[in-house]
This record gives sequence, C-alpha cells and structure tokens, in this order.
Amino acid sequence: MPSPVSDCIFCKIVRREAPASIIHEDEATLAFLDIRPMIRGHALVIPKAHAASLADLPKESSGPILETARKVAAGLRGSGLRCEAVNLWLADGKEAGQEVFHLHFHVLPRFRGDGFGVRTGPDYGRMPERSELDATATKIRDAMGR
Ligand code: 5GP
Ligand code: ZN
Repeated sequence: MPSPVSDCIFCKIVRREAPASIIHEDEATLAFLDIRPMIRGHALVIPKAHAASLADLPKESSGPILETARKVAAGLRGSGLRCEAVNLWLADGKEAGQEVFHLHFHVLPRFRGDGFGVRTGPDYGRMPERSELDATATKIRDAMGR
C-alpha cells in the first residue's frame, strides 16, 4: 500500500532522497526554494514530520513553522534579492490550490510593481452588514468550540 511518507516528495527532500536548495533546517522544520518559483527567492517552509493538512498538523508544530517562515522572510529582506515586502501563503486543501499534500507555507518576496494580485474572490468588493459578519463569526466560533 502506498505510504504518504515514503512517496511524498517533501518527505523525500527531508530524507535527502530528492534534491533541494535548502535555506534552513532545524529539529522540526525545513525551508527550501520552490522548484517552480513565482518570483525569485520563492521559498517553502515545511514541518519535517509529514502532515497533509492543517487538520493533521500537531498543535506543537504550528509555532515552529511560522517561526521558520519569519526567519526566511528576514533572510529574503537581507539577501540582496528584490524583496521590499513578503507574503505568506498556505493552501489547505485541493480547492484552495494545494498540489503537494505535505503542508507548507510559501514565502514570497514582493516588490512594488511585481505584478502579483490576489484581491479577488466571490465576495470581493462587497461590504456585508455587521449582522451578516456577526452571523458568520457565530458559525465559525460555534464550530471551534466543538
Ligand atoms: P501548493 O500548490 O501545494 O501550495 O504548492 C506546491 C509547490 O511545491 C509548488 O509551488 C511547486 O512548484 C512546488 N514543488 C512541487 N514539487 C517540488 C519539488 O520536487 N521540489 C521543490 N523544491 N518544490 C516543488
Ligand atoms: Zn511528506
């Protein structure tokens, strides 16, 4: 039976069974350059232990991933690459654009006029009534309390 850990490309990078241009490694996380960068310096930060999604990620792993992303962002800003600002991007699920099912943050250097744009979506441009925002917040809050 195929195992997510033995077949997963990012697990292979962790085990050095696949090549990668590594930026940072510590006990819990690894950061390396994306093989198809959207912009020069585009990096990925992963937990070393395989987790397909946010739901699979152990609670204690979320902090270290963000901390490594923070360090990579600082590295990008100091690297001499064009980096005036940084976006963190995480796709959790196929419909959100996730293609590699080993959870990862994209760390994207940004600069004025770089042509990126993510201000879109089915509700983009609409400003809901407070009552609608409150009703939405209630649904999420109730689910989180379960
Ligand atoms: P997702 O769409 O899942 O958020 O992003 C997956 C990212 O992983 C893509 O940007 C893709 O270019 C990158 N990627 C896929 N395979 C490899 C690989 O073998 N090595 C590296 N370094 N990046 C990869
Ligand atoms: Zn994996």
